[in-house]
Amino acid sequence: MKRIILTGYRGTGKTEIGKQLAQMNGVPFLDTDTLIEQRTGRSIPDIFHEDGEERFRNIERDVIASLPPADIVIGTGGGAVVDPANMEHLRKDSSLVLLIADIDTIEQRIVRSPRPPLTDLPLREEIAEMMDRRRQHYYASSDLCIDTSETTPAAAAEKIAGLLKTGVPTAAARAEGLAFFRGGRIPAPSLQRLEQILADPPADPQMRILGVAGYPCAHSRGPHLFNALFDEFHLNNFYTFFEDPDIGRIMSIARSLNVKGLSVTIPFKQDVMELLDEVDEHAAQQIGAVNTVVFSCGSAIGYNTDWLGVRKPLVSLKGVKAVLLGAGGVASAAAYALVDLDMDVTILNRTPEHAKLLAQRAGCRWAAWDTFDSIRPDLVVNATPLGMEPDERSPLAEEQLYPDLTVFDLVYTPPVTPLIERAQAKGCKTITGTGMFVEQAREQFYLWFGIDLPPETLRKYIP
Ligand code: NAP
Repeated sequence: MKRIILTGYRGTGKTEIGKQLAQMNGVPFLDTDTLIEQRTGRSIPDIFHEDGEERFRNIERDVIASLPPADIVIGTGGGAVVDPANMEHLRKDSSLVLLIADIDTIEQRIVRSPRPPLTDLPLREEIAEMMDRRRQHYYASSDLCIDTSETTPAAAAEKIAGLLKTGVPTAAARAEGLAFFRGGRIPAPSLQRLEQILADPPADPQMRILGVAGYPCAHSRGPHLFNALFDEFHLNNFYTFFEDPDIGRIMSIARSLNVKGLSVTIPFKQDVMELLDEVDEHAAQQIGAVNTVVFSCGSAIGYNTDWLGVRKPLVSLKGVKAVLLGAGGVASAAAYALVDLDMDVTILNRTPEHAKLLAQRAGCRWAAWDTFDSIRPDLVVNATPLGMEPDERSPLAEEQLYPDLTVFDLVYTPPVTPLIERAQAKGCKTITGTGMFVEQAREQFYLWFGIDLPPETLRKYIP
């Protein structure tokens, strides 16, 4: 039996349901808060009072790192999932079950608990505030999501055991999903895996699918990268291709297969937005595009991690004078990142009207393409496809480059583009498109699994 880990806010029933579930499976139940009290010989309120929350979190991290690897049900403290190091341990060879409940129910269940408050707010408001702050983390800690508001612990345990045994998608949904994948251009090894995952009965009912949604997307590096990471981190997931001209069909299949997450690529980054239950504020506001979907507790939530992929390699250049070449989808995420870093940004684009529209949305300048030399920026970011294989052109000539210029080419095929080659020859500092790809994929992994990967770990799997 895989480890079953129960996550969720206080009062959602982790301890009672965990005990029942353990009994049904004939395995022990461990509660991380009880283990902390046993290890320290003190109550949780005493640890909070005497040593503060940080000390408590450190002990909790040690306790989680030393949990047994199999044949056990584990209940976790309400805040444990916020720490990426905890998530790395909890996710290993385990099924994570998120328990949720409405605020009235939680309030009733914990009102007499001696546990210390985490904010200065009255109890009910604290519950709402903390659940909201932790929601992304709870969703990243849910392979299954069970609402315990109107159910007994025994009934909830039965439901969890049943779903772990059969999987969430119905046989009809699996058959429809398989027909969808068979109709697409999926490499044979991927299709073979999907045939096992979606068989009736499924080979592993707890396996959850993720994938890249695009048309076309058969060239995507996502499957190679993420499946290698799933192996390295012992995650029970499979990443594949959702290639179809209709994003509505992709989303419908993804929902019925209880897919865990999607990377969204051309041409669906805008169209997918109206098919989501919620869109993160960064993606919804100036960027206007979604490249990542997280499915949890019946909702599909959209995020944009492209802007973080541009922002992270540039944090040391806060406030500099920047030129952004291009005004398409990726340029829109890049403009948001550069403005967020307080840079003085000018957008140059082949079609000036597109530059103007993006500049208005992003709150920066725009100008004609041939004004680059007069601007003499500290940073130039290429967000056009110029230089993307098989194109061998560079958006800038060698004589336009100078040693104190940083050149960030978002194009990542080939890894060293004609622009990067010229910039290196001129002694510029250079950042390749792989830098962006790594950081945006790292953020996706964090949204789906709550694990913060070191960039070097991702780079290992990028050719
Ligand atoms: P897009 O929405 O089609 O936008 C392309 C932009 O480039 C538009 O502003 C377009 O100008 C301009 N452009 C196209 N051809 C041009 C040419 N021949 N000369 C000058 N400008 C030209 O594409 P996108 O989704 O933003 O992708 C742009 C590039 O970003 C891709 O090629 C890809 O290599 C790279 N990318 C990198 C990552 C990463 O993780 N590193 C992720 C995604 C994309 P008009 O307005 O005049 O059409």
